[in-house]
Amino acid sequence: MVSSEYERRIAGRFVTFDQDGNGYIDREDFNVAAKALLAEFGTTARSDKGQALYAGAEAFWQGMAGIADRDGDQRITRDEFVNGAVKRLRDNPDRFAEIARPFLHAAIDVADQDGDGRATVADTARVLRILGVTEDLAGTVAAALDTDGDGKIGETEIVPAFARYCTVPE
Ligand code: CA
Ligand code: CA
Ligand code: CA
Repeated sequence: MVSSEYERRIAGRFVTFDQDGNGYIDREDFNVAAKALLAEFGTTARSDKGQALYAGAEAFWQGMAGIADRDGDQRITRDEFVNGAVKRLRDNPDRFAEIARPFLHAAIDVADQDGDGRATVADTARVLRILGVTEDLAGTVAAALDTDGDGKIGETEIVPAFARYCTVPE
């Protein structure tokens, strides 16, 4: 018996990954996210940051597919997500962090305007909005990511937070 709260949270995570909303997660969702992030920050796909973001998106997709695409059709259905990804991510959050790290690192770089390797809370909120966090929540979530309180978000802050978000406790 699973709680409705658990189901609701899982559904939320699935929607986060299903960026184009067609009911399954596939490579295109990761490309959609990368493209939208680059557009938001006026960065071209050909630039170093753009190429790193697409490479990170591809690595993230490959890692997710390796964990969850049990029938190998290059799509992660909701069932595969719930019964594959979520359980295995919970068993091994560190592995998930490694899968997501190149994409998150590249996303921070795209949002990083002054080249210090971190993005401001406001720019991180823009990233979160693009990735599907609602307008009213994005600022609060971004501020909460700044665990060392320096007003900026770095990879060491966003990767563990994202892993925690995706590993839904039962
Ligand atoms: Ca999709
Ligand atoms: Ca599949
Ligand atoms: Ca910080």
